[in-house]
Amino acid sequence: MSQKDRSDLLPPYEESLEELLRLSRPAVAQVLEDSLADREITREEACRLADLQTPELKALVRVADLLRQREVGDVITYVVNRNINFTNICFVGCRFCAFSRGPRDEDAYFHSLETMGKKALEAWEMGATEVCVQGGLPRGLPAGYYKQILLEIKKWTPEMHIHAFSPMEVKYGVELRRIPLRDYLLELKEAGLGSLPGTAAEILNDEVRQTISRNKLSTREWIEIITTAHRLGIPSTSTLMYGHLERFEHWVDQLLLLRSIQKETGGLTEFVPLGFIHHHTDLYRMGLSRPGPTVEEHLKIHAVARLLLNGWVRHIQIAWVKLGEELSQACLQAGADDYSGTLIEENISRMAGATEGQFLSPVEMHRRIRKLGRIPAQRSTTYEILRYDPPDDWPATQPDAALARLL
Ligand code: SF4
Repeated sequence: MSQKDRSDLLPPYEESLEELLRLSRPAVAQVLEDSLADREITREEACRLADLQTPELKALVRVADLLRQREVGDVITYVVNRNINFTNICFVGCRFCAFSRGPRDEDAYFHSLETMGKKALEAWEMGATEVCVQGGLPRGLPAGYYKQILLEIKKWTPEMHIHAFSPMEVKYGVELRRIPLRDYLLELKEAGLGSLPGTAAEILNDEVRQTISRNKLSTREWIEIITTAHRLGIPSTSTLMYGHLERFEHWVDQLLLLRSIQKETGGLTEFVPLGFIHHHTDLYRMGLSRPGPTVEEHLKIHAVARLLLNGWVRHIQIAWVKLGEELSQACLQAGADDYSGTLIEENISRMAGATEGQFLSPVEMHRRIRKLGRIPAQRSTTYEILRYDPPDDWPATQPDAALARLL
């Protein structure tokens, strides 16, 4: 089903919540009413939201939007950041990935430490407060390489927040360094690591992982890395990849797992649903997956996340690179409250076939957020509000000349 086919599902809706609840099956309406009363939803109750009819989906979206408003008000935040995907060489071979290359491929690349430092400095001079550093996993990296990346970036930009290294990269780094996980994370923290991306999660179910990314870390290892980081004062994001071969129950189980991690550590800054971009992936070519998420799934994952994480994880982030403008705006009315980053230089989704660009100017972020009648605000990585006014030194559209220089 193409996204356009179901544009009737996109909020805002004419029907009132009362009307939509009246049109819903009682078992579904009950879950939504319990959520509004701040009662914690169980697995069994959440699973009743699996196959929703149209009025029920609209009711879910409206309830999620109300919970969002209650939890964080009408502010929609964003961070000015730059991605540094320092290499696309990777031996892991995830079937959903169109980014990785073998070391001898023509378009394989590996940025030097100095290049990474310079990229951080360029971003800092453009107003970025964060660099997000992730890459493929090349064989034979020097033992302390990830620490060297942090030290180099801090040398060029001492005040830059470094959001870096997926749990898979952390696992690899531990193997290279041959020291316990806790000591390794402490070493990275001392070298300047500010937070971890909660990526490499995809679906935290080992049966699904066996098909989509069999060489990746296990669910147990992902949990261990994330919770150890939290206990050491290193916060992380959390993610889920949807729209491939997973089922609704997998979403529910993952969201409940994240809720329990948050109850224990309080270290999750946000939850980010990541729609599967299928075009250039083996997973799709081999007939093992759906062709990405439907409109219903996009709305539903953001809304169900708001319900299940209510009171625990405050922020639900949209991935505008994958969603595009129309669906981004819709998901921000379905429980989400964060526009993610300006992402000067985005490579991973682009290689899989995403066409929404590599950069969204803060000026454009402000325009889109105001269009929703909400309040834009630039935030830090850990959600401190930095400013409400749009920076007036940014162009409204993609600064082609500046980008050409940066890329
Ligand atoms: S998702 Fe990451 S670990 Fe998996 S193949 Fe791609 S770059 Fe490698």
